[in-house]
Amino acid sequence: MSASSSSSPAGHPSTIFDSSPTYRMACEQLFGVAEIMGTDPDIISRLAIPKRSLVMAVPIRMDSGDVRTFVGYRVQHSLTSGASKGGLRYAPHVDLGEVAALSMWMSWKVGIMNLPFSGAKGGIACDPTKLSRGELERLTRRYTEEVLPIIGPRIDVMAPDMGTDEQTMAWIMDTYSMKIGYACPEIVTGKPVELGGCVGRREATGRGVVYCIMEAMGELGLQPDQSTAVVQGFGNVGSVVCQELYQRGVKIIAIGDRFGSIKNAKGIDIPDLVKYVASGKQVKDFPGADRIEDNELLAIPCTILAPCAMERVITKDNAGKVNCRILAEGANGPTTPEADRIFANSDIFVIPDVLCNAGGVTVSYFEWVQDLQQYFWDEDQVNAKLRELMLKAFRRVRAFSKERNIPMRLAALSLGVNKVALEKAKRGLFP
Ligand code: NAD
Repeated sequence: MSASSSSSPAGHPSTIFDSSPTYRMACEQLFGVAEIMGTDPDIISRLAIPKRSLVMAVPIRMDSGDVRTFVGYRVQHSLTSGASKGGLRYAPHVDLGEVAALSMWMSWKVGIMNLPFSGAKGGIACDPTKLSRGELERLTRRYTEEVLPIIGPRIDVMAPDMGTDEQTMAWIMDTYSMKIGYACPEIVTGKPVELGGCVGRREATGRGVVYCIMEAMGELGLQPDQSTAVVQGFGNVGSVVCQELYQRGVKIIAIGDRFGSIKNAKGIDIPDLVKYVASGKQVKDFPGADRIEDNELLAIPCTILAPCAMERVITKDNAGKVNCRILAEGANGPTTPEADRIFANSDIFVIPDVLCNAGGVTVSYFEWVQDLQQYFWDEDQVNAKLRELMLKAFRRVRAFSKERNIPMRLAALSLGVNKVALEKAKRGLFP
């Protein structure tokens, strides 16, 4: 199926992105929103194709002395609502369509959160676990050099995503600052606090996920200390979700990552697991739990299922086996539209990605504001403001979902798309 097939409006052109199932999924969602909201088709067709995409060769010298060329991407979905904003991902499967879809989701996410940004995303197709620190640094600096013509604090601001972290952002900040001749912390967010990073940014996405989960639990009358959770991914997002749920008394009974999955029906000791992983060991080898097959993880009965790893892990093939009360999407795009249709007939409370994981970009916004003003907040201020904005967005989406009697995902996407569509309509078409 292409983005221009049955689910797309007549006249929507085929594009270079269509071969990606993730991009087709993002378009299907957009067209679904257009149908419900009656959005102007001219604006929908502009929103279905990213404004600007850069595909670049990123050659670096490896530690061995050989030269290896990687492929990098940066896609700016829109620049309508302010500088574009979005993560940089290092993963083997990264391709243009995936990055385009993620950039589109970023536009809806910042729209839902009412932040003065547009959506973007970037990536390099590589396996960061197989690169040395020196190779990662050279890769990041060369990527920054290649992407330089289209980034800037008022143009496009990157942040960490899968496979990248504070150190990656520090290298980008340094490379950009060297090029322009002065220190420019506002070129990236998610950087070390010492370089103008925001306290609490690293934990923000996971914290935001848990604020949403607690709100949903309140509505469903569920008690944290009588609830269980299964979490996929134990990176930036997943590990913080585990810690925040654990602190609130939720029993984490299973965790999986790309190397394997573990289960302990009595509850996994999260502080012990965090220390274990920090010492360089892998989740799958943790002695306080038993190994399970990866395909069992998402089917384990639990109160909260939190996919916090990657996209399209819940599909029509396994959605029927998902057995939870709350599906909290820490990852971007973990549930396919086919799986969504299966959930529509279940009593699973879905907290969709564009709302659930918006805590990261929200605190990125706080970081950008602080860098521009050179005036810094403390962690209590950051967390209180994050909680306030997350709950406000959650309640808006929930109210819209009830008012229109539509699923939470459709409600969230509708609010996000609507905001961008309205801004496009007001600005008009250039020239
Ligand atoms: P990360 O690199 O820190 O962690 C990724 C985790 O996913 C790791 O534990 C990895 O082992 C696991 N994983 C990778 N492939 C897997 C597979 N095939 N099966 C099971 N587990 C797998 O990345 P992150 O920053 O935690 O991002 C995770 C997700 O959250 C991504 O979808 C990302 O786009 C999304 N997200 C991240 C942020 C952020 O602030 N970092 C913000 C919003 C959304």
